[in-house]
Amino acid sequence: MIIELLVIGNEILIGKTQDTNSNWIVKRIAKYGHKTRRITVIGDEIEEISSAIQEILNRKPDMIITCGGLGPTFDDMTNEAVAKGLGRKLVLNEHAYNSIKKAYKRAYEQGIVKLDGMTKEREKMAYMPDGSTPLPNTKGTAPGVKIKQNKINIYILPGVPNEMKTIFRNVILPILKDKQGKFYQKGFIFSGIGESHIAPYVTELEEKYPDLWIKTHPRIGLSVEVEISITCFDKDTCEENINKALKKLKQIVKELDGKIIKQNT
Ligand code: ATP
Repeated sequence: MIIELLVIGNEILIGKTQDTNSNWIVKRIAKYGHKTRRITVIGDEIEEISSAIQEILNRKPDMIITCGGLGPTFDDMTNEAVAKGLGRKLVLNEHAYNSIKKAYKRAYEQGIVKLDGMTKEREKMAYMPDGSTPLPNTKGTAPGVKIKQNKINIYILPGVPNEMKTIFRNVILPILKDKQGKFYQKGFIFSGIGESHIAPYVTELEEKYPDLWIKTHPRIGLSVEVEISITCFDKDTCEENINKALKKLKQIVKELDGKIIKQNT
């Protein structure tokens, strides 16, 4: 899958908070063979967030993950802004409302909060873009949100690291594992022509097969030997495309009077 992250928070843009959430998330995305195409960091501004969401949707990733700005205060506006970006209404989600109410009741009974019952601020966290599914937040009160737009799955997570991680582990990690990408690497070594000579042909192939990662490495000690490796992520056509690209590269090497001296499969 191709995934984009949208990190939201004024605190990050003024250096008060270091964005460790995105680093934690992208490590897990890479671990399961998926690709993070971009991390965007923006402040808590309705217009900024809604236009960022629209721009990301236009790039058509498989998944969008946002983090930050789900709390009860006026400057937490992610749900409202995402609703705007998706062209949906912001509506009270009954299920989220009841779970927030229960969480505060429990916190009151345990003496964690002094104020009992629902308030405007607490109710605010139950407002989500129309069509959302709330994601239980067992470490805090603001639920995460799942929503689908144009076949793109959007997950809206809280900014507090342990809340974000818990929802990520419960909801997103199983999806990453289930859709785990296949990681193929094939290549060959040849001699007789240099890296710069083959470079324009490699660029052409990369344009033809944008999912493949084609690299050439000069081999130390053997000035004309070049290794070519190809890596790609989870498409059905992955291995087929690798084989086509490899075949084409071998043909080019031969046409340029190079000699294939080793296969790496
Ligand atoms: P809550 O439900 O607790 O209000 P929230 O979604 O509103 O969470 P924020 O208000 O955006 O979260 O952030 C709360 C705190 O979480 C911040 O003060 C900061 O300490 C931490 N935090 C937020 N974003 C990040 C981030 N990207 N990386 C690391 N820490 C973060």
